Amino acid sequence: MTEQATLKPIKPFLKIPVGSEPYIEGLRCESCQAVFFETHLACPKCTTHDSLKPSKLSNTGKLHVYSIVHRSMPGIPVPYVSAIVDLDGGGTLKSNLINVDPDPKKIEFGMAVEIVFNVAAQKDKEGNEYLAYQFQPRS
Ligand SMILES: [Zn+2]
Repeated sequence: MTEQATLKPIKPFLKIPVGSEPYIEGLRCESCQAVFFETHLACPKCTTHDSLKPSKLSNTGKLHVYSIVHRSMPGIPVPYVSAIVDLDGGGTLKSNLINVDPDPKKIEFGMAVEIVFNVAAQKDKEGNEYLAYQFQPRS
């Protein structure tokens, strides 16, 4: 690691403000409140032009759907839980659900979850680390 190494967001919508907690930023339509993660000239839901504005999203949500993954790339420990979460207030994200047994008896659709941020295992060519996000059951 060089002295210049920094922590980079693993996805462009993950924001790392200096001196405060990381957060997820979406683009919220000022007309219909729909949330997206990619830029559009017009809202894909209501077609209003220039209505998508950056919006700090909630770090809590509900488990929409999940899959327990038993086979993956070499070096990726299995099983793990791949999940899609509807954030409270809008926005839908995919990541892994951690800190829960990969057992359907212990995972409920609609269960309350929260985003946790942690440093990913991989680094870029310059030795910079990536900040990633995952979900865990809300306590
Ligand atoms: Zn809209």
